[in-house]
Amino acid sequence: MALIVHKYGGTSMGSPERIRNVAKRVAKWARAGHQMVVVPSAMSGETNRLLALAKDVQPANLDAAAMRELDMIASTGEQVSVGLLALALQAEGMPAVSYTGWQVPVKTDSSYTKARIESIDDVRVRADLAAGKVVIITGFQGIDSDGHITTLGRGGSDTSAVAVAAAMKADECLIYTDVDGVYTTDPRVVPEAQRLHTISFEEMLEMASLGSKVLQIRSVEFAGKYRVPMRVLSSFTPWDIAIEEEAASGTLITFEEDEKMEKAVVSGIAFSRDEAKFTVVGVPDTPGIAYKILGAVADANIDVDVIVQNVSHDGRTDFSFTVNRNDFQRTSDLLKSTVLPSIGAAQFIADPKICKVSIVGIGMKSHVGVASKMFRVLSEDGINIQMITTSEIKTSVVIAEKYMELAVRALHKAFDLDSPDAIRAEA
Ligand code: ADP
Ligand code: ASP
Ligand code: MG
Repeated sequence: MALIVHKYGGTSMGSPERIRNVAKRVAKWARAGHQMVVVPSAMSGETNRLLALAKDVQPANLDAAAMRELDMIASTGEQVSVGLLALALQAEGMPAVSYTGWQVPVKTDSSYTKARIESIDDVRVRADLAAGKVVIITGFQGIDSDGHITTLGRGGSDTSAVAVAAAMKADECLIYTDVDGVYTTDPRVVPEAQRLHTISFEEMLEMASLGSKVLQIRSVEFAGKYRVPMRVLSSFTPWDIAIEEEAASGTLITFEEDEKMEKAVVSGIAFSRDEAKFTVVGVPDTPGIAYKILGAVADANIDVDVIVQNVSHDGRTDFSFTVNRNDFQRTSDLLKSTVLPSIGAAQFIADPKICKVSIVGIGMKSHVGVASKMFRVLSEDGINIQMITTSEIKTSVVIAEKYMELAVRALHKAFDLDSPDAIRAEA
């Protein structure tokens, strides 16, 4: 008998019929003798609907008090899901009980809309499991030390599930979604994308952080820190397929590099439309300038991603950086009101229509010329690179948003990811 955590995403929970289907699948695992904890997301579209309602009522001022209420509102989608799933399981003849984050409790810090899980108390959950119940816990939400409801950021149910699995030392965390695993890139953008049978934890971390929304990055961080065995698989297979077959499907996140992994130089391509670029023009090239610009941005709690400072001419230089597109207006306002006057620069250029495309692969550690091949491929399609950043296992470029799909497809092909032969053998 194993302790298994299942996570079901919004599409998998998207209708009463799908919820019944999830219940049948979970009941099958429970009847096979496993202790089951299930973490569902809100039904698809629900979180967007709730946040749009909030924006409709109060679009302008998102101070801390307002952020608290956003979490109060957004967290309700998951409460509906867990109750519905418990009902569906009970209708299957399977005892089940649902809990919200605060009932467990899942304790987080107080950063509304992007809270981090600090601890999970599993006493209540274990008692229910011991009593033969399936336990269903809301994804995406928790409670801070003052009793306020928090949410974990978009896609946060992945993190809830892995955190529950880590806290309970579960034997495996299965992330059921609307694709049948992790692909070389988003299969909705490149139909030729290939499913990876395994992906290393490091690569998955990069893919998630660079925009592949198949897993929220924090969930991968948790899995790495606590070595949670984790697999991404489809919730759209027939619910009654054999458990052994189901348990071996999808994509396994691995923690050890094996030799086969070395073969693929580039394992995947990630992209993100969520960025906006700013260039402060004619900045005096003196010590402390980067701090004056980015310190002010950080103080406003705006995350900066890519940073480039050009060589100076006549004592002046241009300084560019990217932020999340949601922070575009706030960053513009801040530069205008505070930063430009404080550094004596005349103007800045703001571009919200950029994107970041990244190639990721452990094999890049041991191969030279991978980045230059990326640049060549982009130049052959006439795509101008605005910024570049690299690490040991990834190279990212910032380009105009209109070229995003073209770039992803060209790179996918050039790095042989279109062909099934390029994909690692089954582990
Ligand atoms: P869920 O609601 O189950 O959490 P998400 O929409 O958050 O599902 O994540 C699954 C989606 O992630 C897929 O439908 C796919 O479009 C997208 N995706 C992006 N990159 C990848 C990738 N490399 N492999 C698989 N899916 C990806
Ligand atoms: N419902 C939340 C969202 O839409 C959390 C999740 O689905 O993982 O972002
Ligand atoms: Mg998701």
